[in-house]
Amino acid sequence: MTGNKKENFTGKVAFITGAASGIGRATALAFAREGASVVVADISDQGNQDTVRIIEERGGKALAVRCDVTQTEDVKAALNKTIDTFGRLDFAFNNAGIEPSKPAPTAEYEEEEWNRIIDIDLRGVFLCMKYEIPLILKQGGGAIVNVSSGAGVIGIKGSPAYSAAKHGVIGLTRAAALDYAAQNIRINIVCPGYIDTPMMDRFTGDTPEGRAKVIAEEPAGRMGKPEEIAAAVIWLCSDAAAFMVGHAMVIDGGQTIQ
Ligand code: NAP
Repeated sequence: MTGNKKENFTGKVAFITGAASGIGRATALAFAREGASVVVADISDQGNQDTVRIIEERGGKALAVRCDVTQTEDVKAALNKTIDTFGRLDFAFNNAGIEPSKPAPTAEYEEEEWNRIIDIDLRGVFLCMKYEIPLILKQGGGAIVNVSSGAGVIGIKGSPAYSAAKHGVIGLTRAAALDYAAQNIRINIVCPGYIDTPMMDRFTGDTPEGRAKVIAEEPAGRMGKPEEIAAAVIWLCSDAAAFMVGHAMVIDGGQTIQ
């Protein structure tokens, strides 16, 4: 965790998608801080290398792998590299995702945009789990956390694809959690609210007015920090969460309970 107590993830291996930026990078750093070797998997080569450099500068172990989560061969190759380099897989954080490029009501929503978002934000999570699970089973179990969103628990006007994908991640995760609960793989979900990342900068235009509009929706009166999501992921992967199965943990400053 990010507090005083350290998890003992020494000797364990974590595979993290979307780890070149934002929540994924913060979580990669958190796993490394807890002693895990970290596989940084993202489509951004430069971002991957930057995350690995930060981990190594802090004394951790990490591997950068270019991986587009919509491409089966990329996912398989990235996981093969994980095993070749570190010999095992204990944890996965399936976090790579994109936001809608522009809002539109359902009847006007472009099919291409629908397909793009479902492909990355939902099918990508399925593909990653499909190839992670056999590796985690091989060494007796572990934990997976998938990323949904506040948009996974409430509908978002003008955002049918993102809402569907993020609701879908919760359903997918619950099914998978039931499939593997008896085989010692715990699979859970985090649902972040507005978190201050490059994705949020694109969403708000990174202007004071854009940021203020988003913050006005947050009862906590601020955006969340990527490290606050990372802390929840670490906890969900730790033994402290040994009885958490298929849970969707909302971390959103109270946004979706209004
Ligand atoms: P971010 O800063 O944009 O980071 C996402 C990373 O995923 C980027 O490095 C991106 O690369 C990468 N990526 C995109 N498509 C990919 C693909 N096909 N395969 C592999 N990597 C890919 O976003 P973030 O805010 O950290 O968001 C991370 C996750 O949290 C997403 O699933 C998002 O939907 C979810 N989430 C975020 C918020 C928020 O407020 N920030 C709220 C709720 C949920 P490029 O930059 O090169 O595209």
